[in-house]
Parts: sequence; C-alpha cells; structure tokens
Amino acid sequence: MLISNSLLVVIETLIFVELLETCTAQQLPLLPKLALELFELRKEQIQDVLNAISLLFDEQANVLRNTDTNEPLGHEDLVSTCAQLADLIAERNLESEEKGGHDIKNITIEVTKRSVSMYKELMTTWNPENNLLPDNEKWDRLSQVRIFFSPLNCNQDYMIPYEINWEANPAGNVFSVPDIVKLRQRPKHVEYLCENNEVPNYGGVLAYFFIDAFFVPPHELVHFLQGCTKQIDNISHHVSWSAEHDASRVSLMICMLVIGQMIRNGELPDHFLHLVACNAIRGYLTMRKYLQSYVGPTNDHSGEQNESPLTAYSVYMDWVHAFGMNLPAADWKSTRVKPFGELCVKHMISVDGIISYFSDYQVLCNDILKSESKELMRKTYELLCIIFENRQDMEVHCEEGRKALSDSMAKYQLPSVSNTTIDAWLS
Ligand SMILES: [Zn+2]
Repeated sequence: MLISNSLLVVIETLIFVELLETCTAQQLPLLPKLALELFELRKEQIQDVLNAISLLFDEQANVLRNTDTNEPLGHEDLVSTCAQLADLIAERNLESEEKGGHDIKNITIEVTKRSVSMYKELMTTWNPENNLLPDNEKWDRLSQVRIFFSPLNCNQDYMIPYEINWEANPAGNVFSVPDIVKLRQRPKHVEYLCENNEVPNYGGVLAYFFIDAFFVPPHELVHFLQGCTKQIDNISHHVSWSAEHDASRVSLMICMLVIGQMIRNGELPDHFLHLVACNAIRGYLTMRKYLQSYVGPTNDHSGEQNESPLTAYSVYMDWVHAFGMNLPAADWKSTRVKPFGELCVKHMISVDGIISYFSDYQVLCNDILKSESKELMRKTYELLCIIFENRQDMEVHCEEGRKALSDSMAKYQLPSVSNTTIDAWLS
C-alpha cells in the first residue's frame, strides 16, 4: 500500500466528520448515500479513531456523542473535532516519517508519474491518426517532467506564496511542489497555509496536501501541455479563466483513472475511490452553498444599477456552459472577483466535468473497478481532444480559436452540465 492504514483511517474519519458538518442537523441519514456507503464499509475503523478522541457514533440516534458527557455533538463541536482529528493526522504522519518514509511525498511522486503516463497513453494509444498534436515532440516533453521539491527555506515572508505553490512549467520541464517533509519546521508557511485554506493546524495542512497529491498533478500537467502547445489564453482579466477551466475540467477524470490503476494494482484499497468521491462531494456542497449565497455587484462596471444582480453560482454556470470562454472576471472586477473564488471554481468544475459524463456514480465505479476504466478513458480522451484539437499555437479567444472549440464540442458531443445530474450524486 502507498499509504499506511493508520494514517489513512484518520483522514477518512476527518472527511466523514467534515461531511457531517455540511448537514444542517448533523445527522447521518442526511448525508449523500455515497457517504453512507463509505461509512458502512469503514464503520469499525472510523469508530476506533473516534474512540481515541472520546467520541462515539450512536447508531440508534444517528448522531456523534461525547463519551464523557453523553451529549450529542452540534456544529461547533464538529469544528473542534476536525481540529482534534487533524492533530491525530500529524501524530500518525510523524510515526510513518520515523519509520523512514513519507506517505504524502511518495504519493505525490507516484501520482505525478502515473498522470504523465496516462496523458501520454491517451494521446498515443487513443489517437492512432495522431491528429491531435501534429508535432510528436511536444507530447514527448511530458516524459521529461521532473518533480522539484521546493525546500521552503527562503526567510522572506513575501516568498511564502511562491514557495508553497504547485506549478508545472515547460521552461525547464519542472513540476515544483512544496517539500512537505520540511513543513514541520516552517511555522510561517504552516500559518499561511492554514489561513488561506481554512484548515485548523499543521495536521489539517497535511490532510489538505494528501488530497492535493491526487488532484493537483493532473491539473498542473494540463497547464504544462498548454505551455508546450502554445495555447494562449487571455490573461488580461487577472485570472486566466479559460486555461483554468480546461485544466480543472479534466483533472478529476485523470485523477480517477490514476486511482483506478492503483487500486487494480493493489497499491490503494478498493474503498479509496469512494473516499475521493466523498471528498469531492464535500467540497462541492460547501462551495456551491457559498456561491449560491453570494449576490454579485448591484452596480455594473459602467456604474449602472443592476435590476436583478446575479449570484456567483449563476455566473459560474454560465461560465461552465461557455466552456470557460465568457470571462466572468470582466463583470466581477477587482475585489468583486474574489468571492467568485478561483479555488471554488477549480474544484466545482472538476466535479461537474466528470458528473456530466457519468451521471450515475455506480456506473463510473463499476467502469473503474471492473472494466479497467475503459469508458472513462474514452470520455477523457474526447475531452482532451476538445481542449487541444486545432487550438495549438493560437490565442484561444480569437475567432478561429472559438470556432475550433465549438466544432470540437459538436464533433465529440460534449454533454452539458446540469443541476439534475449533480443532484443525483449529491442525494
Ligand atoms: Zn491552474
């Protein structure tokens, strides 16, 4: 196994408690059925972790109880439970470090390697005519990508955001990743990560990095390919919306393909797919609620009063339907862009991306575990064709770029993203 079971089970418990925190009444039956399935599968192990912090899952009342006071846990208690679980993650991570390994760092290396192979396979085996990128050399550059673990040793505060950044850059063929092992001795970096990612402590940062180790390499490698193929996005609106859209839309699909391969190789347990899906749903629910509650500018940029200001969620949906091409930042300028949230958008589109192809989780699960991801491979290939076919060496927003995109969307029958399919996963 790529991760020690003692560390994995605390991360599972943390995700389960965080999911419970998203429910209004903190009761188990209100969770999405996917999360209930995961809980059923891992009940005993999760209960052991809860016991270690004096909690008990009361199956009769379907609530978590404090074993000392016998009181059920409310929303605030769940927040502090998450902090306690994060401390436990730090403890167990240290145990695995002392045995000479570092699970999260090793996973980052492994997932990056496999994501590179997955992109290459999709572009060669699945593309016999090689019509996607006429220049083979561009795809070969993927094999030259090497991970550089940033040592986090610059003592200047302004450097912290750059040092903790994950970024794959075609200049030098480097994928920079923060050195997770060094993080324990870097309180300022930890403090920065806690504030910016709303995690409670160092253990929370580790859990966050654990998830990122699966999600970020597939995303960053698309940016690498965009750079290699000189696919130029319009960056005049602060955030490169189209590039972010494309990288995020395909990232969870590649992530699931890689995880499927690892499960079939016996490197990850079978239920790991459920865990990733549950975490994706948890993030989606939190972020959708946030975007739905944020009402946009009441004045537009020319100073005119908006009759009915939009919510950030409806702006997001328009952007998704336009395949990332309608630059929401143009209407959500300066400080108003922030609530639209780059992080929210990246996460949500990665979930919407896969759900639009697989409205039924069980179908996706069977494909990955029983059919060697054949269907997911085909869908991912088609999505990559839409992203890259005939768009290399051009500004994607130009007339020719827009035409190439709409032709590919029609050719590969891009499914639309709809609330109905999403709600089926979330129910
Ligand atoms: Zn990005």
